Amino acid sequence: MARREEYEAVIGLEVHAQLKTRSKIFCWCSTQFGDAPNQNTCPVCLGLPGALPVLNREAVRMAAKAALALGCQINRVSVFSRKNYFYPDLPKGYQISQYDQPFSEHGEVEIDTAERDEHGRPIAWRRKRFRIRRLHLEEDAGKSIHDGMPDSDRASYIEFNRSGVPLIEIVSEPDFRSSWEAYDYMQYLRQALQYVDVCEGNMEEGNLRCDANVSVRRRGTTTFGTKVELKNLNSFRFLQRALEYEINRQIEVLENGGEIMQETRLWSEAEGRTYVMRSKEEAHDYRYFPEPDLPPLVVSEEWIEEIRRELPELPNHRKWRFMQQYGLSIEDAATLTSTRALADYYEAVVRETSDPRASANWILSELMGLAKAAGIEPFASPVTPSKLAGLIRLIAEGTISGKIAKTVLDEMFRTGQPAETIVRERGLVQITDATHLEAVIRRVLEANAAYVEQYRAGKEKLFGYFVGQVMRETQGRANPQLVNDLLRKLLTEG
Ligand SMILES: [Zn+2]
Repeated sequence: MARREEYEAVIGLEVHAQLKTRSKIFCWCSTQFGDAPNQNTCPVCLGLPGALPVLNREAVRMAAKAALALGCQINRVSVFSRKNYFYPDLPKGYQISQYDQPFSEHGEVEIDTAERDEHGRPIAWRRKRFRIRRLHLEEDAGKSIHDGMPDSDRASYIEFNRSGVPLIEIVSEPDFRSSWEAYDYMQYLRQALQYVDVCEGNMEEGNLRCDANVSVRRRGTTTFGTKVELKNLNSFRFLQRALEYEINRQIEVLENGGEIMQETRLWSEAEGRTYVMRSKEEAHDYRYFPEPDLPPLVVSEEWIEEIRRELPELPNHRKWRFMQQYGLSIEDAATLTSTRALADYYEAVVRETSDPRASANWILSELMGLAKAAGIEPFASPVTPSKLAGLIRLIAEGTISGKIAKTVLDEMFRTGQPAETIVRERGLVQITDATHLEAVIRRVLEANAAYVEQYRAGKEKLFGYFVGQVMRETQGRANPQLVNDLLRKLLTEG
């Protein structure tokens, strides 16, 4: 039997992120997703003889934002290289990438990570640093389509709209010791790229892709075991499950006296296992050499500093600030900073209410619930920060109860009207007039004389019943504290 605890995993990730430029990296073709097949092509991205690449300035800017967000140093001079291999969807027979002089290196991110229990719930959060070896620029290949097309039982189709779309490849050091560490890092990477607005970050749509190198070794040793490359990790869930499976498989092999083969394996979600795609003997030799059609990429210190100044507050720092400044839990702060737009929304509400706790609660429970049901982002709802703040103020002032406020928010969400208008037009103002309430309570008690007798004889749990009746009489508008106080008074008075 394999004994898990005696081993530790060593994992490194290679992430490809598609930059959201409007045009491709070496030509002016559109990067628009979903256009007709091969519509966005030209001699450059089709690899026709004699066509020359011209580097897209915006792609370099975006790569720089990503590099700085991940703590990388940008090299003043970097070099594009040809990575040679044959594949039908790679028309030039090589991919323009970067090799020994990459765009940026030596990054590091500090993030929160946690192992999870069997229900996927975090066990204990801790902060850990993960190093990034390099972040470089390259072009994407085209796409081969093997099914879903006419004649596809006999033919494959090639789609070049993706050919030449700008990518950054982000290579980590082998710093992850568990599948969840890799998962948390990958989540953070996506979030950071979205914060600096350079990548859509959708793994399912393929604009964020991940390969993993996995090996295991006995705890306490420092040498690396033989590593296996994992591909086809098309979602965060697949990534975590595939790593977990592979770690266990390797431990099992070693415990049974076997040997780990250096190979590339694919994850099959349907079967819940990895299987061999190719062994080391079939590994590519890419014969890299400097791209003769592109000069070295030279950037100035001033340009780098200008981009650094434009960076927003990064997601980890914003989360930690939310915890400290607003007293939020790590989970609440994480949700509220999951996107920049939501974090901005929250802070706009807090600025008006000066009540970080209530603002967080109304967004996290009520507003997000309504938004989810409507299939939109909470910050895109008709309830602007000002309007939500208006609702929270009405509760704080005692104009409406928290219960009524939920009804009001429902209507705000549907109609976009301010809380004040809805409360006024529908007569939802809380009843805080003691004389008025006392009259209502007396009516309720008279109508329930038998229960009142039972209550006075000691059946105290009937109290809740009376409260319910008063609330019904007032359509929920009675101030709950006042109802409680008056009821107690009238019931003991006899
Ligand atoms: Zn083109």
